[in-house]
Amino acid sequence: QYILAFESSCDDTSVAIVDTDYNVIVNLISSQPEHLEFGGILPELASRLHLKNIVTLTKAALNASKLNLQDISAIAVSINPGLIGSLIVGLAFAKGLAWSLSLPLITVNHILSHIFANFIEHKAVEPPFLALVVSGGHTELVHFDTLTTFTVVGKTLDDAAGESFDKAAKLLGLGFPGGPAIDELAQKGNPNFIKFPRALPQKNNFNFSYSGLKTAIRTWLVNQNPETLQAELPDIAASVQQAIIDPLVHKTVLWARQHKIPYILLAGGVAANSALRQQLTTTSAKYGIKVFYPSNALCMDNAAMVGAAAIPKFLTKNYAPLSINVSSLKGTRQV
Ligand code: ATP
Ligand code: FE
Repeated sequence: QYILAFESSCDDTSVAIVDTDYNVIVNLISSQPEHLEFGGILPELASRLHLKNIVTLTKAALNASKLNLQDISAIAVSINPGLIGSLIVGLAFAKGLAWSLSLPLITVNHILSHIFANFIEHKAVEPPFLALVVSGGHTELVHFDTLTTFTVVGKTLDDAAGESFDKAAKLLGLGFPGGPAIDELAQKGNPNFIKFPRALPQKNNFNFSYSGLKTAIRTWLVNQNPETLQAELPDIAASVQQAIIDPLVHKTVLWARQHKIPYILLAGGVAANSALRQQLTTTSAKYGIKVFYPSNALCMDNAAMVGAAAIPKFLTKNYAPLSINVSSLKGTRQV
């Protein structure tokens, strides 16, 4: 059976079709370069562009899949968190299709869907597992006892990991989004060049904090000679990246060890970071813990992960009423 899924929480419109065994039939993404000239995302522009793109993208997805609307068994859509106007476009379109085709509507949380992106390529992973969500707006450690029962056991008190990469990159003049630029530069740099602070080092504290790092980078930059700075960029990038990664790896592995969890699932845009993937994998392996992460494309916002997160709800007929609305509730949750 096939689920037609929509993702429109931020600035990417995406339409996907998945089957109930986590296979992706099609996963199309239309990004919005229109925001680039503003140096950030304009919410009103984002929702208008979703509105412009979503019909064409849905037709293209159906064409590419060689399926018809009659072959679809359910409609899935993310309804929180995200930009309210953007979410409304996806939900309104999903509701319209569900109503006109008499199909069930399944609503999912965008952060939960980032975690479920893992099952598309790693079908054998079973609970219990620990998920480390590191995205543009979230940094959370989520302990799963089953696919549908989970607890957020740690989270950021201020900036998210991705936000931290982006703000550091801005201070260093590397453009937006900053994560990929820092990742690449850092590969040629020395992570011990500058020792930026690591927040909340207490052994039983599983929360994160990155606002101090931002200030530390700014303060450090003030005293530098702009002439030598350019040559030092790889070392600075590597040092910033290491300051972001250290607490993530340390706290995630510690929780998994303390609770005898065999699997760690990385999720969200920052799960594409090569150093984080490598260090989390190596450290976990010392304790017999296995680490999984989605391939780069599935780390970013996409509708296949929304379809994947809808599967447990589809199988238990946990459908949403057409009266449901979007919300701004943050964090990993059952909508
Ligand atoms: P949320 O999912 O919390 O609502 P979002 O959808 O905007 O936020 P994502 O699309 O999941 O966030 O991730 C985007 C973030 O991932 C950006 O902050 C970006 O800099 C970061 N990122 C992408 N690639 C890398 C990389 N290779 N290294 C580090 N960060 C990266
Ligand atoms: Fe996201």
